[in-house]
Amino acid sequence: MEPINLQLSRIFTDLYEEDEEGLPVFKAFIGGSWVETSDRSTFKVQSPINGSAIAKVQKCNVSEVDKAVITARDSQHKIRSLAAIDRIEIMEETARIIKQHADDFAKIITYEMGRPIADSPGEVNALTERLRLSMEDARMISGEYIPGDWSPDTAGKIAIVLREPVGVVGAIGPFNYPVFIPAAKIIPALLGANSVVAKPSSNTPVSLLMLARTLQLAGLPDGVLNVVCGPGELGRAIAAHPEVGMISFTGSTEVGKDVARHAVNKRLHLELGGKGYAVVLDDADLELAAKKCVEGSLKNAGQRCDAVSMVLVDKSVAEQFVSHVLRFVEEWRLGDPRDPSTRVGPLVSEAAARRVNSMVLDAVEKGAELLAGGSCQAAYHQPTVLNHVPETAAIVWEETFGPVIPIMEVENDSHALAVATRSKYGLDAAVFTNDFYRMWKVAKALRVGEVTINDFPRHGVGFFPFGGVKESGIGREGIGYSIEEMMVLKTIVFNLEPAGLGKVRRPKMD
Ligand code: NAP
Repeated sequence: MEPINLQLSRIFTDLYEEDEEGLPVFKAFIGGSWVETSDRSTFKVQSPINGSAIAKVQKCNVSEVDKAVITARDSQHKIRSLAAIDRIEIMEETARIIKQHADDFAKIITYEMGRPIADSPGEVNALTERLRLSMEDARMISGEYIPGDWSPDTAGKIAIVLREPVGVVGAIGPFNYPVFIPAAKIIPALLGANSVVAKPSSNTPVSLLMLARTLQLAGLPDGVLNVVCGPGELGRAIAAHPEVGMISFTGSTEVGKDVARHAVNKRLHLELGGKGYAVVLDDADLELAAKKCVEGSLKNAGQRCDAVSMVLVDKSVAEQFVSHVLRFVEEWRLGDPRDPSTRVGPLVSEAAARRVNSMVLDAVEKGAELLAGGSCQAAYHQPTVLNHVPETAAIVWEETFGPVIPIMEVENDSHALAVATRSKYGLDAAVFTNDFYRMWKVAKALRVGEVTINDFPRHGVGFFPFGGVKESGIGREGIGYSIEEMMVLKTIVFNLEPAGLGKVRRPKMD
């Protein structure tokens, strides 16, 4: 197996030491230092490109989580005492450093999770934009003045409502946007003067360690951000830790539920799984709808929470729509993600490819027609089109997280809505139509956090708030919205009666 050499820039050399085989062994980041774990155990990061180990990472244990949380708690005063403008400047400086090393970040994203190298820079750009828009987050840290005049109980008093940091934020991220998603938690948390303990996915830990390094170089005070790497149980330990004030978690619904069970009495922000139904009405621009549904399903090999993962098309236009889909799918070449012409790379692991393929096979067994693709090899799953998918197939209801376009014909708008609203998920949906009133009717009836009209859903940098209902999560993420989740309100009530500013009550009528 051909080894994949990371070859990172010099600013990242403090993060690792090489083992006897020359493999970099990355350290944890606690208290502003790059540290080895107490028992020095490590785990391997395997690239889905060819299954080879690209790095090892120090495997933290629960006592290291405790150390990281206590360090974060004891260091919070350092970020709290910084003027907001200084916090913003750290973010802007981080953006500058990342831009200078954008190739390192793009490369590591491709190596760790297999995204085509043509697409990985998009995540890095989103990251620098998110950092540069820090001002928009910081402006949300304000309060309210509430006059007590109008109520008998509060006459003579006023209240000021402050937004204060929750304390230590536990930020737990998934593999599919390994640097942007954790950053979208860390940035608002720090701007809100919280300290952070972050845990990346075990598939993609190096990207987040590199982000931590750039924040460190930009002047973030020691101990304010800590990164622990290791298995899911570390996430659970963060969720359960009494000194953690909030958990911001992005990942699967199943793990999100476990996090919620352990994060008792904490702020919870959960961005969980989705099942993106695209509803194609009979008046839609079918070529546009097909192009967007194909891109929405295949981008990032379908490993997007906001992916289009089920198309519900009006039966009167289904044949024409499907022929456009088949034409566009041909443009999505599966291959080695290091090749700039590849549009669909491997899934995160061979196990992920097998899981997706079992959903495809289940649909075919239950009567779906396989029009393209349908098989997998190692971590690579072919872009796949399934037509006439019956409601009994698991792929109609379960998150796919793979490059599959399942299509179902529906009788009319109501039938499409009946299917989409039966879903346990409620993250994103798309509607393709040129009829204003039908668009509104369908968009209002869909029970999801975000509906996209005439495009595929994409959360992107978070200009528009997004988040789930039902089993897709709690809370909203986005610029200016995430920070609201990370602040607690504190009310300070002033009695003005001693100053003679109390109110005289209206005499009671007999
Ligand atoms: P995952 O398996 O749920 O893992 C997410 C994170 O949780 C990882 O860091 C994982 O660590 C950790 N973890 C595992 N078990 C845990 C536990 N018991 N307690 C606390 N943390 C635990 O998700 P994934 O496969 O990485 O990501 C794909 C999922 O994320 C999909 O369902 C997708 O829809 C969802 N997602 C949602 C959004 C959104 O905005 N709603 C965005 C992106 C992704 P290990 O890797 O070490 O196991």
